[in-house]
Amino acid sequence: MADIATIVRDVADEMAALTDRGEVATYIPPLAHVDPRQFGLCIVTADGAVHMAGEAEEPFSIQSVSKVFALTQALGKVGDTLWRRVGREPSGTPFNSIVQLEREQGIPRNPFINAGALVVSDVNLAGHEPRVAIGELLRFIRYLAEDDTILIDEIVARAEQETGFRNIALANYMKAFGNLTHSPPLTLGVYFHQCAIAMSCRQLAMAGRYLMLGGLHSPGGPRVVSAQRARRINALMLTCGHYDASGDFAFRVGLPGKSGVGGGILAIAPGRASIAVWSPGLNENGNSKLGTAALERIAEATGWSVFSQAEQGLSRPASS
Ligand code: GLU
Repeated sequence: MADIATIVRDVADEMAALTDRGEVATYIPPLAHVDPRQFGLCIVTADGAVHMAGEAEEPFSIQSVSKVFALTQALGKVGDTLWRRVGREPSGTPFNSIVQLEREQGIPRNPFINAGALVVSDVNLAGHEPRVAIGELLRFIRYLAEDDTILIDEIVARAEQETGFRNIALANYMKAFGNLTHSPPLTLGVYFHQCAIAMSCRQLAMAGRYLMLGGLHSPGGPRVVSAQRARRINALMLTCGHYDASGDFAFRVGLPGKSGVGGGILAIAPGRASIAVWSPGLNENGNSKLGTAALERIAEATGWSVFSQAEQGLSRPASS
């Protein structure tokens, strides 16, 4: 039986010893130049305790992890009417795939593939200037993390804009189907900037607490979303949070999680922990290689998988 502090330390030590760390994303220079040897881990538990190891205070580009917060913001604005414009099914395709959109009349499969996230950005734009919409999202994330130092990396945002031809294509394609209300460049401006938000593992794990706490900001704190909404966002993270590797992540880790090509993953053990892990090297599906491995070890050591029953204590489950 190990406590969380020991598990965090052991997992970080184990990851430090691994040599195959995956490949960093290369589609924009600011990500291509990140040192792949870095690894950070932070676990915030339901009692408010914070456990960290490695480069847990180093900010990284959260990229698609931002889709969780943007979805929460959009649901706050339009509620369940969002689901007329975005589906809730796993796509089984890569993050930036366009193929399903034609067959499915411009309705993206879910809010966590790029097409779906663009619709979410369109909702959050809500007739404002892009900088107002992105400012609102940034303030929301700072409130969740209780940290006003969280920033948007303007160099990353510009690089996203300069190279985002697929995202530009997706936005234009959905506009042609009538599923974007604003002009594509405005919606894309919001999306590119949300991808460029930089956060540390500590900030990310803190920001994810509302998903562990049934919608509460912090232990005993104010309500951010209803318990039902928190549960549903977790369900979407579990089924769609890792693109076409979502099934494998559920199989290996068994926790709702959302990854980004910056190498970050936010994973939620409902009622127990909000976990952020970061290592920039990616696996073949574009998810953090060491991040996934670390979460697999944490789920094993804690028994926190949403699929394990009974005690879910800290004791190591019998090996199968
Ligand atoms: N900025 C990336 C894109 O839209 C985000 C992808 C990701 O993190 O999965 O292409």
